[in-house]
Amino acid sequence: MAAAGKTSTAGFTATIVHADRRGSIEHGSIHKPVHTAVTFAYDDARDLAAVFQGKKAGYTYGRQVNPTVTALQDKITLMEAGVATTAFATGMAAIGTTLFALLRRGDHIICSAFLFGNSNSLFNSFGVHGIEVTFVDATAAANVAAAIQPNTRLVFVETIANPRTQVADLVTIGDLCEQHKLIYCVDNTMTTPYLFRPVTVKASLVMNSLTKYIGGHGNALGGAVTETGNYDWAGFDNLYDSYKTGAVASWGINQIKKKGLRDFGATLGPEAAHHISVGSDTLALRMDRACSNAMTLCTYLETHPQVKRVYYPGLAAHPQHQLAKQLFRRPGAIFGLELADGLDCFDFINKLDLVICASNLGDTRSLAIPVAHSIFHEMGAERRASMGIDDSLVRFSIGIEEPEDLLADFAQALG
Ligand SMILES: *Cc1c(COP(=O)(O)O)cnc(C)c1O
Repeated sequence: MAAAGKTSTAGFTATIVHADRRGSIEHGSIHKPVHTAVTFAYDDARDLAAVFQGKKAGYTYGRQVNPTVTALQDKITLMEAGVATTAFATGMAAIGTTLFALLRRGDHIICSAFLFGNSNSLFNSFGVHGIEVTFVDATAAANVAAAIQPNTRLVFVETIANPRTQVADLVTIGDLCEQHKLIYCVDNTMTTPYLFRPVTVKASLVMNSLTKYIGGHGNALGGAVTETGNYDWAGFDNLYDSYKTGAVASWGINQIKKKGLRDFGATLGPEAAHHISVGSDTLALRMDRACSNAMTLCTYLETHPQVKRVYYPGLAAHPQHQLAKQLFRRPGAIFGLELADGLDCFDFINKLDLVICASNLGDTRSLAIPVAHSIFHEMGAERRASMGIDDSLVRFSIGIEEPEDLLADFAQALG
């Protein structure tokens, strides 16, 4: 179903909930069944050889391909209006494996300085292993432009950063990458393809942690990388000749699948793929509700005397409010909050009743976490300060509860 997303005229949800059924499906089942077999038998050995040689479509071994996972991949390709998707065991596996498959020693990459904590840690590891890494404030494309070197291969940004909600200068960075023939990787986890499609700002590869909003229920881990078709892989000399088969747009993802998924083996399991696929049916409905809830809460909290600062792109005071308005259907459902001086963020979180104190985000349930003391603890005070992460900062991932119940919970916890 290559590029089907680009030609579909149905709405986002109508397309997604019928995606499985319109692919090849067993017995008229309306969900793609969970295929647990790790291998696939062939009556004719010549057919097996043809599949191994890429001359025929088919399934070989579960580390690389599985029909349930393929159905989910096709669904994500439709969501992102891309060309092809490869799924992984987690979002981190999708990011790490992709960079591992495409980069070589001596290459240089430019990353946003406001990255998801584990991505930040991962890129530092690439630095230790011979890839040069420059972190820049990606809210201004000029900082990316200033960091470009002759050996720069790739630029990696997130749409909305977590927890301070900085919005990357996505359009201008896309123009810059096109001009310098750089691979443009956009982590779309915070916005999801329902709020924003990175293909529209010239992204080459789109990363999604399926664990978050796409799966949406906190019951399965997964990740994906989607090829948008924007990048001219013919000009990228880190590709092996054996993966330069078929359309040029697929050369990069061919190598990610083989050198990355096949050789590294961070494979998404079929049960997790099924959970994520069912969860994704309601992505648009959940996002509409969660984003609306986040906007309601931030509007209330912004002027609350016990609150020092609220970081949310939906607020007019947010530095990238206009850009977020222009690019995203809604400003997301994540916000950061700093309490007024003298108030203890642990006490505040403990008083919340409906909101759960937990890691993770993009769940149907609202979640809160004291950032500096948990997910950003390992990087140390100095790096936290450079990322603008105050010790009192609490990150909220707002869920789909009724807005009046969430408002009441915040009011009693601050009261
Ligand atoms: C959670 C997250 C990841 C990693 O995803 P996992 O599925 O937890 O491995 C990557 N990027 C962003 C922006 C995330 O929020």
